[in-house]
Amino acid sequence: MTTGSLNTAATTDPAEEQSLVAVLSVAEKVLLLTGADSWRTQGAKAIGLRPMTTSDGPAGVRGVIKDERSPSSCLPCPSALGATWDTGLVYELAAALGAEARSKGVDVLLGPTINLMRTPLGGRGFECFAEDPVLTAEIAVAYVRGVQEAGVATTVKHYVGNDSETDRWNYDARITERVLRELYLAPFEATVRDAGTMLVMAAYNKVNGLPMTENERLLKDVLKGEWGFDGVVTSDWHAARSTAATALAALDLAMPGPHGPWGDLLTRAVADGAVRPEVLDDKVIRLLRLARRVGALGGSADPPGQPAGAEAQLIDPRLLRRATAASLVLLRNEQEALPIRPDAVGSIALLGPNAFQPTIQGGGSAGVVPVSVSTPEGALRAAVVGQAEIITAAGCQTWVMVPEPAAGSLRDPDTGEPGLRLEFRAADGTLLSSEHRTSTSLAWWDGVPPGIGWGESGRIVLLASFLPGSGGPYLVGAAGVGRLTIAIDGGTVADEPTRVPADPVEAMTRPGEVRAAVTLEAGRQTQVRLEFRPAADGEGPLAVRLGIAPAVDEDKLLADATAAASRAEAAIVVVGSAAMTESEGFDRSTLVLPGRQDELISRVAAVNSRTVVVVNAGMPVLMPWAGQVAAVLYAWLPGQAMGEALADVLFGDAEPGGRLPVTLPASEADCPVLHAVPRDGQLSYDEGLLIGYRGYDAAGVAPEYPFGHGLGYTSWAYESLRTTAGSLAPGDDLELVVTVRNTGTRPGREIVQAYVAGQPDDETRPVRALAAFGIAAAEPGELAEVPLRVPARAFARWDAETGGWAWPRELFTVHVGRSSRDLRLSAPVTAA
Ligand code: BGC
Repeated sequence: MTTGSLNTAATTDPAEEQSLVAVLSVAEKVLLLTGADSWRTQGAKAIGLRPMTTSDGPAGVRGVIKDERSPSSCLPCPSALGATWDTGLVYELAAALGAEARSKGVDVLLGPTINLMRTPLGGRGFECFAEDPVLTAEIAVAYVRGVQEAGVATTVKHYVGNDSETDRWNYDARITERVLRELYLAPFEATVRDAGTMLVMAAYNKVNGLPMTENERLLKDVLKGEWGFDGVVTSDWHAARSTAATALAALDLAMPGPHGPWGDLLTRAVADGAVRPEVLDDKVIRLLRLARRVGALGGSADPPGQPAGAEAQLIDPRLLRRATAASLVLLRNEQEALPIRPDAVGSIALLGPNAFQPTIQGGGSAGVVPVSVSTPEGALRAAVVGQAEIITAAGCQTWVMVPEPAAGSLRDPDTGEPGLRLEFRAADGTLLSSEHRTSTSLAWWDGVPPGIGWGESGRIVLLASFLPGSGGPYLVGAAGVGRLTIAIDGGTVADEPTRVPADPVEAMTRPGEVRAAVTLEAGRQTQVRLEFRPAADGEGPLAVRLGIAPAVDEDKLLADATAAASRAEAAIVVVGSAAMTESEGFDRSTLVLPGRQDELISRVAAVNSRTVVVVNAGMPVLMPWAGQVAAVLYAWLPGQAMGEALADVLFGDAEPGGRLPVTLPASEADCPVLHAVPRDGQLSYDEGLLIGYRGYDAAGVAPEYPFGHGLGYTSWAYESLRTTAGSLAPGDDLELVVTVRNTGTRPGREIVQAYVAGQPDDETRPVRALAAFGIAAAEPGELAEVPLRVPARAFARWDAETGGWAWPRELFTVHVGRSSRDLRLSAPVTAA
């Protein structure tokens, strides 16, 4: 782990905090400990405390509303940030994100997510940095420092064992102490000790029998006791489900509010003696400390956001573009298929559904309304103007919900402006309010008129004039949790309820959809009306979505794409996840690409020998065609700069700088952990330490592409490895210097990785584990020296008997190289 100075520099004044707490009654203190609404904490005028505003991260900060009128910068997803292996770049990006949050009046960012990619099926894996704790910790420390130095507190989440989504509210993760310490707790420990994160979020799930919001040992003993965490433990949203147990286990803040398990019940528990007054005071003091650190105590009563109407301070698009290019991983590049010189190829077939409708972010609370989206189609066309012809064909479709109507095809029937009319109506049909909107996917946590919402009888109505670009059969889809009625030109074509999902977040991420098949005439305005009555027993964010798309013949799509590929000199096929493939709230059931994308690639590769596949997915997918194509570039869920960054890398203006933060499997059966479904309420972490590459190494299985792999556009020779010591005392770090040479013809950037290996017959340790990494940058022919510090912890082992770290006297080998399976140099080290 890295060590560094704490950045929680804001002064704490224990005497002042005590005197402020003394002013408050028990009921006033209790009030502060539950949110005021979905996103804000309570203020207390008497002590100069203003409400603090929280907002989700980690791939952007949306502010308190999710609304196209208040868009946000959309960063590469966290697995892409992990793929940069670049703590400096992540720090820079996080600082810019912090500044954007500040400009939106946000005090507390609900991120980063620092759980591990335990299984590639994990629905929220795209929100994690890596499958490895050291890479996760280093990237997370940089992220936390960046955001916090911009004056915004971070919330590392979800503490702990929330590594999959199926039944996440209830499952009991059974994890041994050693595995917790060496894997899952490690990033939390690093962000507390080395980066001073101001908040930690307690997860929904249980660990070893106790809900994390009630887990006294992990919250009070380990986090606050051993690690000295002096900030606030907040619950995940609605995760606090008991009164005294959560209060005693050292949860400090129950979110959201104003209702929850504390309130009067906690006041009574204090009166009854079930919760001691000092326990309450400690929580309030922590909250005041946070408030002081973010400037919410003793200052103005208003949050420090921009004045009404002012622009948010969005992230510089050039930084997003550079960071995205640095995250792209070149997995394969036969005969230097990449970079492509547009002036030398003449014609390029741009194929695949994601070239036109890319998936730039994952679903769930991390989602933002992006400021803009650079699509591969738009950016590649712009990049080759005057040099090459681009021939396009989608090849197949992958959507699970009817796509939203094409931009510009809808008009507000009241004003004629592009977009639609949104109405809130009471049960008897009375119009409560109405507004013009431009998005067809709308969500609310708050901000709907009284009478509208779960268990209410009001309705939300969307009205639009739709202009079909082509005539023929169409699908109209209405999605939401509740009853949905679609009318076309005044006639009802569908009227049905959808089911209430298991996880409340699915009300937004994948609500049920009601569909109608209609025939439309090209160029004739069609009046569309969608009425949504939220379910009586629904929960979570209120969301409704309208889709309209021409029905297509999939065989024809494939045939058109293959024909386009056969006519072009190079084919770029952009495949990947569809919207709602990767999301919070559910896990994936397969690693197979959705729809007929595998078939599309094989058919294209059969007719075009220069086929380049771009994979737009936040987590691993199977690539049965990898050996048939010339090049494969892994692009993650790259955020708003996707197209431009892809163009930069495909045409050689930028280096594909990324290396895999997660192993890509050759088959599902090879994955060390291929399940996320609890049995009898339990999720057993039976694989112990052997997740990700550690599992492949232990089983002697070759993955499709190993952890750490990535080619770049130049080649490297590893020339020497120097260590400061051949023998280490317990607790000593090991300094290394690795010398590499750029042996190619282009300037380049190399991620130098150091792994520590135990004795070959030592079954208690992984075969090798990442211990340190650094970046070399060099011109052709040049040498670069990369200093690395292997932390002492890399040689230690958690000793369950003594309940501490042990440094048994052992012989280790330190390997350095280009990936976990491409190790070039090594040195022996005796520890302890
Ligand atoms: C998620 C958290 C998120 C919170 C607020 C929860 O469902 O698990 O990551 O911060 O909602 O949106």
